[in-house]
Amino acid sequence: MSTDAIKLLQGRYCNSLTEYSRFVTREVYIGDVPMGANNPIRIQSMTTTDTMDTIGTVEQSIRMIEAGCEYIRITAPSIKEAQNLAEIKKQLRQRGYTAPLVADIHFTPNAAEVAARIVEKVRVNPGNYADKKKFDQLDYTDLEYQAELERINQKFAPLVKICKEYGTAMRIGTNHGSLSDRIMSRYGDTPQGMVESAMEFMRMCEALNYYNLVISMKSSNPQVMVQAYRLLVETMVAEGMNYPLHLGVTEAGDGEDGRIKSAVGIGTLLEDGLGDTVRVSLTEEPEAEAPVAIALVNRYVKRSEEVRAKSEEISAPRTLHPAPQTHNPYEYKKRETYEANAFIGGHMVPRVVIDLSKSNLKAPSVLNDAGYMYSPLLDKYNMAEQSVDFVYLADELPSFTLPGNLKQLYNYSTWQKLANKTLCHPVFTLQEYVGDVDRSSSLNLVILKPTDIDTEAFGLLPLNNTLVFILEIDALNGMCDQRSFFFKMEDLGLDVPVIIKRGYSFNNEEAKKVSPTGGDLEGATTLLQLYAATDLGALLVDGFGDGIWIDAPQLPANIITSTAFGILQATRSRISKTEYISCPSCGRTLFDLMETTQMIRSRTSHLKGLKIGIMGCIVNGPGEMADADYGYVGSGPGKVTLYRGKEAVKKNITSDNALDELIGIIREDGNWIEVE
Ligand code: SF4
Repeated sequence: MSTDAIKLLQGRYCNSLTEYSRFVTREVYIGDVPMGANNPIRIQSMTTTDTMDTIGTVEQSIRMIEAGCEYIRITAPSIKEAQNLAEIKKQLRQRGYTAPLVADIHFTPNAAEVAARIVEKVRVNPGNYADKKKFDQLDYTDLEYQAELERINQKFAPLVKICKEYGTAMRIGTNHGSLSDRIMSRYGDTPQGMVESAMEFMRMCEALNYYNLVISMKSSNPQVMVQAYRLLVETMVAEGMNYPLHLGVTEAGDGEDGRIKSAVGIGTLLEDGLGDTVRVSLTEEPEAEAPVAIALVNRYVKRSEEVRAKSEEISAPRTLHPAPQTHNPYEYKKRETYEANAFIGGHMVPRVVIDLSKSNLKAPSVLNDAGYMYSPLLDKYNMAEQSVDFVYLADELPSFTLPGNLKQLYNYSTWQKLANKTLCHPVFTLQEYVGDVDRSSSLNLVILKPTDIDTEAFGLLPLNNTLVFILEIDALNGMCDQRSFFFKMEDLGLDVPVIIKRGYSFNNEEAKKVSPTGGDLEGATTLLQLYAATDLGALLVDGFGDGIWIDAPQLPANIITSTAFGILQATRSRISKTEYISCPSCGRTLFDLMETTQMIRSRTSHLKGLKIGIMGCIVNGPGEMADADYGYVGSGPGKVTLYRGKEAVKKNITSDNALDELIGIIREDGNWIEVE
């Protein structure tokens, strides 16, 4: 995108980049539960049962509703499932559950037309609604492109007319992995292609005077997903549209990875003020998704009022810095910084800091939680892929020798008194650093609040390539304040590396809500994953931050370490483990997704950097797993097809030895590593 185009688009995808403000959309009625405008951000999920299993689907839907789902989506792969939605709906209503139902459609307009007469909303995927081809035509003339659009319009218009007649809403749900070859030929599998894919269908709807639309732009890569939603809003606004947004990260996986990946994508957009309904896709029971979605959304329920009240309390109000002309929210570009001490900033991966100052610093085993496994027998440390780069020890001195590559951070007054300063670096307050102090010749860290950038002291900072900022904030609207700080740094032409620091504490009541069956620790862990992934992820996806520091005194250091590396992995800014792109499963699923994912993980989790797709069906799986290096896809009962990238290399093999076969392919490609 040219610089002129960037200038034109500044701030057009959200109300403000530096102050929370919800983007108000048109109101759309899904049954009698409206979405968009000033309605609450709605929670939803999708069943995983066979749609022909009426009782199973009804009971699972009830569990989802009781967990907090306001809409229930059910797959309708063919006419018979679409018809059975009537029975499911009837039984739910008989049992007193009124949540609107959504039919999920891929490839089958005839099923959509049946479902649209029964349920409150249909979801269509513009990449495959009217395309049954293998997506292999790569070149379209303008004439061919137009002819394709007309062909699609003919197939799509009947559904729109039924929706109008029955008052049924529609989601136009683009997926990064399943764009039509018409779109691929013009735009590739880019955010722009995703947006155009939906816009073509939206324009067709408007031409038929149908406006009951909700739009989504999902991807398993949170960075692509964020860019696509932002570009969608900008494009909609330019064309006079403002449809509600359904937010989700597809194939996010399970456990910690699934929660962090979802929060990076969904949370970043919620911070931007975008999003009217949320579906968190986890490879877990669907009722486990709602508490996670609710925890993400709840942070914004009263955000505007809370931020306003807070700034009124502060005697020196916040100064907000608008985005510089060079900021492009639609493309990833790491902020340019210098490399300090050949260790942080520049082209280095973001560094991880944890605070061990309150830990027992008498035994080396305390560092196990920071990724340095101490062997008393050999008296040595083994580093792992998730070994932190800095430990902050404040004013505490350990009574053992630390690993030879772990940097230690001390408060300035303590650092100054250290006899041996090798690998030890001072942390200054701003006032200290601008005073008459001994500075390190290698690395000096200065703790700042975002508002410090407007102070006189900041203007007095002695600048050289040893300086690194630690940008600290605990406030609710902290991400916006920190983003504002980065904008001001850009305007000032300052290329000092910045470590983003956020602090969290949780109460037991909050923790219980997000983890009703787990204990307080499990709940607090989930909240940390969701909040930190939102706050830090929202900056990292825009290329801000040369390091991260999560402070959560309630939680053990190993959880903080793992969360920090998980966030860096999800934002693709530092890869430290295997990535699993596993679908949440649905009525099409051909094997037990949770069990299979665990089985594959148990043998491949040491393959750092590999992306393995685990998909429940061959209909959507290959498209949905997007940029996975390898794929394990259900292709029939007890049958699996294995993929290398987008190519099916072993078709319909028995699931009994499919994992061994997959490992064989990885080995053939030279990507296998034996476990030590
Ligand atoms: S890939 Fe998974 S969630 Fe998607 S349609 Fe297939 S089985 Fe369902």
